[in-house]
Amino acid sequence: MLNLEQPETRFAINIVREASLLVKRVQAKMVSPAITKGDYSPVTVADFASQALVGKALAEQFPDQPLVAEEDSSELRKANERQTLQQVTKFVSERFPHSTSEDISSWIDYGASEPADHFWTLDPIDGTKGFLRGDQYAVALALIARGKVQIGVLGCPNISEGFKSDPGGLGTLAVAVRGEGAWHTELDSEPGVFKPLKVSDTKDPEQARLLRSYESGHTNVGQMDYLADELSTTAEPVRMDSQAKYMVLAAGKAELYLRFLSPRQPDYKEKIWDQAAGSLIVEEAGGKVSDLYGLPLDFTTGRTLRSNRGVLASNKILHQAALNALRAINT
Ligand code: AMP
Ligand code: MG
Repeated sequence: MLNLEQPETRFAINIVREASLLVKRVQAKMVSPAITKGDYSPVTVADFASQALVGKALAEQFPDQPLVAEEDSSELRKANERQTLQQVTKFVSERFPHSTSEDISSWIDYGASEPADHFWTLDPIDGTKGFLRGDQYAVALALIARGKVQIGVLGCPNISEGFKSDPGGLGTLAVAVRGEGAWHTELDSEPGVFKPLKVSDTKDPEQARLLRSYESGHTNVGQMDYLADELSTTAEPVRMDSQAKYMVLAAGKAELYLRFLSPRQPDYKEKIWDQAAGSLIVEEAGGKVSDLYGLPLDFTTGRTLRSNRGVLASNKILHQAALNALRAINT
């Protein structure tokens, strides 16, 4: 049973809800001109606002618990980004009135910590490209302690109660606490009625519904096809941005989620904030998560999953069949 009296659990649910509703407002107002980071991923007003909000709240409520988050304020502090910073400040001030631009930058940089024995990790908007397209994205927050994800929360503003893509709908929040199961509720209803998430009990590989990144550059489309052939599944893999895929899997609406390595970036290492929350939600819903070789995700190696290669998440029953198929196609 989910213990909502536990302060960290309550904090994580509340702040992901707030951050998700904030980014939803930003999206609705279309104030998100993308700027380009060194790695060419678009960063928006909403990313920064979401991270500032979580950084500020965490610093206030758990000042001794570090935050490892995706963004930093270096781009935002540049003279040509003054307007972006002003927009971020405007949105964050709705929650924390009278915030200054300097406050905002320092709250964002609260996320510059290194992983420790007990720390939080945040993706302020996972799936920025989906966000800009008006598709799927998620606010993802996880608590990692003693090398394992202990709490994972995903806010998915564009996922409906039926776990379908529903831009403009009410949105869904999922939470998992190690040993307490995985749960979901409406994003916009506080405190919310929490219903259990449970993976599907499909046993037949031919029936497996596959999930993959929307962005072809984040996966290997050819290998997805080989895998589908090897499993004899005929359904077209569902393309979806962000950790919303983990939520869909945890809800029993798909059986397998693959993160193959893009041929353009064969040495890519997954970032911890891209996998932590979603992986616990799948595991606590009865599923299994490993890398493409079947190794458990190792969250003790810094900001990336350095000892792992790709990700395979499943309803557990089909995990071995998927690993066998991966071996057969020489992943
Ligand atoms: P998805 O929407 O599932 O493709 O996941 C989005 C996340 O993929 C982003 O938050 C990025 O951190 C991450 N990403 C960026 N480049 C790559 C890449 N080459 N391969 C895999 N993931 C990537
Ligand atoms: Mg991300």
